[in-house]
Amino acid sequence: MAFRMLVAAAHPDDEALGFGGVLAHAAAGGHETYLVTATRGDRGRYFGHPPGHPEHPGRPALAALRERELRASAAALGVREVVVLDHEDQHLDAADTTDVVGRLAGEIRRLRPHVVASFGADGAYGHPDHIAIAQFTTAATVAAADARFATGDPAPPHRVAKLYALAWSAAEWTAYQAAFRKLTFVVDGVVREATPWPDWAITTVVDTRRCWRTVWQAIGCHQSQVAAYQTLKGLTDAEHEALWGTQSFYRVFSLVNGGRRRETDIFEGLGA
Ligand SMILES: [Zn+2]
Repeated sequence: MAFRMLVAAAHPDDEALGFGGVLAHAAAGGHETYLVTATRGDRGRYFGHPPGHPEHPGRPALAALRERELRASAAALGVREVVVLDHEDQHLDAADTTDVVGRLAGEIRRLRPHVVASFGADGAYGHPDHIAIAQFTTAATVAAADARFATGDPAPPHRVAKLYALAWSAAEWTAYQAAFRKLTFVVDGVVREATPWPDWAITTVVDTRRCWRTVWQAIGCHQSQVAAYQTLKGLTDAEHEALWGTQSFYRVFSLVNGGRRRETDIFEGLGA
């Protein structure tokens, strides 16, 4: 049976770098996948040039370009529909809660996903936008099922069966940071970095090896960010498999299964 999955991300390229494996794997398995991206990443660099640099085209132009890259990447991953919410990049945690949760809950009601996935409480490496979308998505999943929660949209309430948080393992972070760079930055004067989830806390590991070329193709769509991905060109097939071969999650809640046995399928328990 085909199921529906919705991924809620913060920036263009999160869908590929964070969720590419599981999106491609689900689509290849005949499931319907959908993506909501909260910002257009317009405070980012342009081919390595920081905002303000003479070769940087400015925020509106970068936003338009990154949205095109996002849509190309999502198409490569087999995503059926992409919704871009246009919240302010790097300031998602300051967005109006009622507004974001209402929009997300409205999309959940319209798309009726069985499974929703977003970032975890760690924001992958402490990124405040990632933490914000994780919180908003959790709230929206609850609100979407509540008939008393008004979204201004006629779609009826919808109860999501399973909610997942991306939970990078030590092995996944090691492969990622060896290929890219060590992810570390400063927020409110405090250094944040990629912190692996303990193995025992990871509830779900999806084998996405057969999809690594698709993930790689999706990442390649983010041309304006390509400076960061240049090092990946020299990787061997085995190194690519180590990078994109598994995706790990924490099952935040499930209405259809439970227990300590590790899942290998995010649709497990949904039945025929
Ligand atoms: Zn991101």
